[in-house]
Amino acid sequence: MTSQRPVRVRYAPSPTGDPHVGNIRTAIWAWLHARHTGGQFLIRIEDTDQSRKVEGSVERILASLEWLGLDWDEGPDIGGPYGPYVQSERLDLYRAAADRLLAGRQAYRCFCTPEELDAMRARQREQKRPPGYEGRCRNIPPEEAADRGAREPHVVRFAVPEGGVTVAEDLLRGPIEVANDTLDDFVILKSDGFPTYHLAHAVDDPAMQITHVTRGDEWLPSLPRHALLFDALGEPRPIYVHTPIILAPGGGKLSKRHGAKSVLEYAEDGFLPDAVLNFLCITGWGYGDETVFSRERLIEVFEIENLSLNPATFDMDKLTWLNGVYLREMPVETLAEMIAQRLERELPADVYRPLDRGLVEEATPLIQERIQTLADVTPLVDFFWQSEVPTPPADAFLQKKFRGQPVEAARLLTASARTVEATDPFEAAVLEERMRALAAELDVKVGDLFTLVRVAVTGRRVTPPLFESMEIVGQGVCVDRIDAAAAMLAEVPQPEPS
Ligand code: GLU
Repeated sequence: MTSQRPVRVRYAPSPTGDPHVGNIRTAIWAWLHARHTGGQFLIRIEDTDQSRKVEGSVERILASLEWLGLDWDEGPDIGGPYGPYVQSERLDLYRAAADRLLAGRQAYRCFCTPEELDAMRARQREQKRPPGYEGRCRNIPPEEAADRGAREPHVVRFAVPEGGVTVAEDLLRGPIEVANDTLDDFVILKSDGFPTYHLAHAVDDPAMQITHVTRGDEWLPSLPRHALLFDALGEPRPIYVHTPIILAPGGGKLSKRHGAKSVLEYAEDGFLPDAVLNFLCITGWGYGDETVFSRERLIEVFEIENLSLNPATFDMDKLTWLNGVYLREMPVETLAEMIAQRLERELPADVYRPLDRGLVEEATPLIQERIQTLADVTPLVDFFWQSEVPTPPADAFLQKKFRGQPVEAARLLTASARTVEATDPFEAAVLEERMRALAAELDVKVGDLFTLVRVAVTGRRVTPPLFESMEIVGQGVCVDRIDAAAAMLAEVPQPEPS
């Protein structure tokens, strides 16, 4: 069954914290379905559980979508023809729907107290009966209930038809059949006047002309209830797509340790929106054996019918790999801009000379092949900008061939400083040629000599290509750093020969 109306899908988060990847994946799929079909994607904030509301959550939800580049056609911030898009601003609509059901005796007021409900549940446990409301208030005459309702706290429950079966469809699973006697009379309006999710869904989705409801499969058990509610309200049922959960590697629930983080944390960790979008989309959906999908390609080939029913496993290595692919494919200027923003945030201003954008552009190609996330950038290149790289401790130099040889290391560094100082023009290729000649002259392996110089100039043993880096750092700074290292090593007492 496909809808003839233009596709309208929604992302309906509850503002209870930052949306994590599983939740956002459902939003991505809904968005792609809208964009693939030329339909609309809207956002509705489901804040009917006021006790779970987290301050700032709505802003962060919108920021997460924005970061991923998922644009919306209607929503709490931009409005639209079916607003308001925040459920707590739609209470009249839920009340009216509940009243309609009450008038039609498809719902009733329930006055059972929390204590009474607790006692009922305890009895059910004791007698090993299934849990659920047993319908005590269902037979209160409606006039009496209306009268009491004006004075006493109460909820409104849906009156599930007695006997018969309810058949509800899920696009991926086909029809799901449930005997009505297994469903209890569930609450649709709470005593505080707020609807439960069930009623809010059955009111808002038709009111907003939603054609497809994509949501996590934790809602699957509620599907027959929703079908009954839609029927009772005389609303056409939407097409349901219940998305499977994402599993942790090795099975089980995805925890924070495995990657169940919020999208904004991935941004913080140096991942690119396109890589995260690509990765989440293919975690549970596929198209041939393609792995790398541009946004445009996803919009072109994504079919919601092809979502997999098997829960997918979260593969952090794949995400990291994909991120590396996107970093390498990115135009250098775009990457340089991202790197500059990151360095500006991460380099403490008092230790670093002002960030020279030209330098960032020169440094970017040196590391583009070497980084997997933007978080790799700063530790790899901070020495370019550091006004003073503190001379590394002697141990950093006195390894392998130079173990116990501070005087020899100092001698080689001093000779290197003079060569570096005399190199003209100060260009990577020329510098490399001179330094190779120096190694031959001093009868030392190039690798050993270059490592000493690398540690002196950068403070590290692993860096972007040495001579390109030195060219960027600049001749004077290189000479100073190498001389400082030589002077330090000259002070280290030479160990007694054993
Ligand atoms: N507010 C619900 C949730 O976050 C939405 C489910 C739905 O999309 O209908 O689980």
